[in-house]
Amino acid sequence: MAQTQPVQYAPCPNCGNTNVKKINYTWWGGILGPAILTHVKCNNCGTQYNGKTGKSNTVAIILLFVIGLIIGLCLYAGFVYLTGS
Ligand SMILES: [Zn+2]
Repeated sequence: MAQTQPVQYAPCPNCGNTNVKKINYTWWGGILGPAILTHVKCNNCGTQYNGKTGKSNTVAIILLFVIGLIIGLCLYAGFVYLTGS
């Protein structure tokens, strides 16, 4: 039978350490981004990665950031359009 263990994140892709910390807020994703991506930070080497898959979040972060930027620009354009005339 499987042993009951506390919630564990995938080991660090850089050093294999399992002592990681969940990140609650980032500049690129606010509080939503790291929650969606299970973004964690290795306490040993500082590598940040996806605690669910054990892989780098870089591509997902760029995607999230670009999508957020586009939405922000659209909102800004709409704001300018509504207030400009
Ligand atoms: Zn590490």
